[in-house]
Amino acid sequence: MPAYDPENIFAKILRGEIPNATVADTDHTLAFDDITPQAPTHVLVIPKGAYVDYADFHANASDAEIADFHRTAAQICADRGVTETGFRAITNAGKDGVQEVPHFHLHLIGGRLLGRMLA
Ligand code: C5P
Repeated sequence: MPAYDPENIFAKILRGEIPNATVADTDHTLAFDDITPQAPTHVLVIPKGAYVDYADFHANASDAEIADFHRTAAQICADRGVTETGFRAITNAGKDGVQEVPHFHLHLIGGRLLGRMLA
């Protein structure tokens, strides 16, 4: 896993250097609308801590950070109404997962019928 790059775009969003359309802001978690939405709901959920990817976050974040992250994501799904209609929660990781931004994030995608796979 590469070292965390503090100049990645989500680190800049967390420092307030780049604007975002905030959906949720908790002690440990920030969520905002994706700038290139793939569906009516396309929210990115990110930890405020410096974690590169899924494995880094779940290995090194505290239980409080992990619980806050996933509860925030679930609450957003409820608030957007996609808990009822269905949604996808996706994280891209590493080279084969084509992760573009090296700060762990979860895509919450819903609000329309999704194809069988996102590839
Ligand atoms: O999972 P991956 O790293 O490929 O996705 C990065 C996501 O971050 C993209 O969906 C892109 O649209 C989004 N993004 C954003 N705001 C930025 C830069 C990227 O929502 N300023």
